[in-house]
Amino acid sequence: MSSAVETLPILLVPDPKLRAKARPVGGGDADAVRALAPRMLDAMYKAPGIGLAAPQVGELLRLIVVDLQPEDKPAPLVLVNPEILAASTELATREEGCLSLPGQYAEVTRPARVKLRYLDLEGAKREIEAEGLLATCLQHEVDHLNGVLFVDHLSALKRNMLLRKLAKDLKGRRD
Ligand SMILES: [Zn+2]
Repeated sequence: MSSAVETLPILLVPDPKLRAKARPVGGGDADAVRALAPRMLDAMYKAPGIGLAAPQVGELLRLIVVDLQPEDKPAPLVLVNPEILAASTELATREEGCLSLPGQYAEVTRPARVKLRYLDLEGAKREIEAEGLLATCLQHEVDHLNGVLFVDHLSALKRNMLLRKLAKDLKGRRD
């Protein structure tokens, strides 16, 4: 079935909404969030990407979607008001990219394992323990809710190089 709903555009750096702190989802947001989550998943799959946070589509709400598509099958995770409860002292370094900084990649070091608490779309309290790529992805998306981008974990020199390259690439796209 085709949908009349347009794909949500993903905001790019330096959009100021990507630097704002998102507010918690409250009871009054339930309908909006239930409508927004599938549209975020749709935009993420089309990009394509493995994670997307609501501020990246201009909604300053604490909502993220993730899908690593294990075995090439969709396995969407929707996390409302996610909170990192615990992080391992052991660190892991992994190459990261971001749909809001298209074409830019860098190695980022973060805790190797994390435990999160969140609400699902029905409002039920849930917890998830993650390692590997999922741990990286969840931390990257929760960062977005606080206006933090993966480049903020790099040295100022590397960050500025990458942001300059992004600006140049985006200008090239427009010209
Ligand atoms: Zn991102």
